[in-house]
Amino acid sequence: MPTSAADTLILETIERLCRSEVPKYQNESCYNTVPRALFTSFAEAGVAGLAVPESFGGIGASAATSAAVFDTISRHDMGPAIFISVHAMVCGLVARFGSDEQKKSILPKLASGEALGAFALTEPHAGSDAQALSTEAVLRGDSYFLTGSKIYITSAGFADLYVVFARTKDSSGTGISAFIVPASTKGLTIGTPEKKMGCELSPIASLFFDEAELPRSHLLGPVHEGFKVALSGLAGGRVNIAACANGLSRAALDAALKHLRERKQFGRALAEFQGLQFMVADMHSRLEAARLLVEKGAQDLDTAGASPAKTRLSSSVAKCFATDTAMSITTDAVQLLGGAGYIKEYQVERYMREAKMLQIVEGTNQVQRMIIARELLE
Ligand SMILES: Cc1cc2nc3c(=O)[nH]c(=O)nc-3n(C[C@H](O)[C@H](O)[C@H](O)COP(=O)(O)OP(=O)(O)OC[C@H]3O[C@@H](n4cnc5c(N)ncnc54)[C@H](O)[C@@H]3O)c2cc1C
Repeated sequence: MPTSAADTLILETIERLCRSEVPKYQNESCYNTVPRALFTSFAEAGVAGLAVPESFGGIGASAATSAAVFDTISRHDMGPAIFISVHAMVCGLVARFGSDEQKKSILPKLASGEALGAFALTEPHAGSDAQALSTEAVLRGDSYFLTGSKIYITSAGFADLYVVFARTKDSSGTGISAFIVPASTKGLTIGTPEKKMGCELSPIASLFFDEAELPRSHLLGPVHEGFKVALSGLAGGRVNIAACANGLSRAALDAALKHLRERKQFGRALAEFQGLQFMVADMHSRLEAARLLVEKGAQDLDTAGASPAKTRLSSSVAKCFATDTAMSITTDAVQLLGGAGYIKEYQVERYMREAKMLQIVEGTNQVQRMIIARELLE
């Protein structure tokens, strides 16, 4: 869905980059790392600055353009699509909620790829119920001291800064606040990368805070209002995850169509069997519906800004439908390839593992259904 000549140019550049660079990193020596050289290549193509305004060195892309970028990258590999979409979420949060000083000092580095951003909300006892988080930030003098832990944080150990959510309490009240935490902060340690089911080029790990000291100026947005900051990031993030799902579905459907044309059984191409034709017809129809929902979600973000209230419904619908669709299309693609579908060389088993992750991240699809139902019933 490119909307301008500039969009077409950036998408063509990214497609070429994905074809030439991404395969270099699709091997075990790079798994569970963020390959920094790959991030730099994407940054040089403008991708690191998608969500950074032009005045701070980015390209200030619309939500529709960003969605098209993530759709393109995830046709090749979900890893970079995920760590760059989290980075874009962090860029958007600093651009929307940062002080002038924060924007000036941080955004140009995020846009150029000199710094990689990460988003730390989930905790061992606060996943779907993120508001139950217990990491604390205590203000003493002119510094906050953070204590607690975060789990499953994309790019942990590779990011240069984290947007971290912690509980705050002072004479003005209580709540959750957002903080910009440099990776070099004393008192912050990082766990070893988790061994996970897929998405090997996007590592996750835990963060541990032990009285980690942060100057007060690292507060992002108003004190006690950090949950609004998180929700604002997640609305845009969900549309990007839905776009990733569509790229994945496209790759799986293309692989299935190629196989049906080439493979012969019972003396005929598989493509001639009506039972299989009906499967690909359904796969295509569901993907078309998911694409339209991503367009709607992106359009709402572009017209309503990032106000969670205005974009909550369409971003949750797009995320839930597109990622469930990716799970179903990738599973069908494995089936349509038969034994080959189960063999790594043919890629579709990887697509199926990546689709499962998309149903869980940025709020599970049960959480999306809770949000959708709440919006309808309110
Ligand atoms: C690859 C990956 C990358 C991630 N990256 C990040 C990141 O960068 N930053 C970050 O902060 N987090 C990240 N996460 C964490 C992710 O957001 C959480 O895993 C997710 O929100 C679910 O939380 P949980 O794992 O605690 O599951 P739980 O909340 O324990 O849920 C378990 C199951 O119960 C269901 N459930 C829970 N409550 C309800 C309810 N009320 N009604 C119905 N069903 C319910 C859930 O849908 C799920 O199926 C990542 C996770 C993964 C796997």
